[in-house]
Amino acid sequence: MKPLVINFQKCSIHDGPGIRSTVFFKGCPLECVWCHNPESQSYTKEVLYNRERCGACGKCKKICPHDAIYMKEGCVGLNKDKCELCSTCLDYCVNNAREIVGDEYTVKELLKLIEKDRMFYEESGGGVTLSGGEVMVQDIDFICELARGCRNKGIDVAIDTCGYAPTEHYEKILPYANRFLFDIKLVDEDKHKKFTGKSNDLILKNLKFLNDNGAYINIRIPLIGGVNVDDNNEEVMKMIELLKPLNIKAVNLLPYHDIGKHKYTKLDKEYEGNEFTKPSDEKMNEIKMIFENNNFQNVKIGG
Ligand code: SF4
Ligand code: SF4
Repeated sequence: MKPLVINFQKCSIHDGPGIRSTVFFKGCPLECVWCHNPESQSYTKEVLYNRERCGACGKCKKICPHDAIYMKEGCVGLNKDKCELCSTCLDYCVNNAREIVGDEYTVKELLKLIEKDRMFYEESGGGVTLSGGEVMVQDIDFICELARGCRNKGIDVAIDTCGYAPTEHYEKILPYANRFLFDIKLVDEDKHKKFTGKSNDLILKNLKFLNDNGAYINIRIPLIGGVNVDDNNEEVMKMIELLKPLNIKAVNLLPYHDIGKHKYTKLDKEYEGNEFTKPSDEKMNEIKMIFENNNFQNVKIGG
């Protein structure tokens, strides 16, 4: 299956060093409860519906050739099983209350877009970041061709990954990636299953594989009260023990936020992370200090 792109973000300063273009691919093997990009989880195109914009005129219901739309309590609902993603309803909505996410690009088209900001990459020490969703579960030959194309043009390539992808994919991308932005969420396996839907076995195996093969690893840790942050820093200490023997070049500590919460409504999904909390600035500094005291270099709060 050809990868779908949800977003091509220019001038990003949170996805690796310098100014970068970030390509967000659609589809992820994990289902993190706190995910702030729920539209990136499914591998297929999806209709998003913005209830605030909808005037409940019912035009889309009338026009839908597949009878996928129904009226409900002053707005409209979507029967996803019936929707064929034909986009007819988008054309008829004067309020632009609907959009379809997930676009197909060729490698050539993406390279052309990436190359446009080459001057910014060169001046800032930036490049391109391939992200998601999860980039490493996409068609790996497509991703390798894209990364190779960037490297051939002298553009730095960062792979932003949750680690849950076949190890052979990491082996294939290794020659073309300058750096891996590798997420570690939880070391405790039971908690990992509970909050992401999957064991962390494969993730830890891939982390070791990259480390043993000399990859530049930048660890990224989302810190979430109610998940991996507590008074005793229990999970943080487990991460330290896990990461200490490895050659980690940089660590980003990412405080939880819920700015993607509204997207769940657009997808007609329920956000289950309402009880999670953002760690205080004091707590974030305390965790940063723990990493630094354990000899980790380039520890930063934020992306
Ligand atoms: S056409 Fe647009 S404004 Fe009218 S009901 Fe459908 S989504 Fe709402
Ligand atoms: S995309 Fe097409 S099938 Fe889906 S709801 Fe809109 S008009 Fe109906």
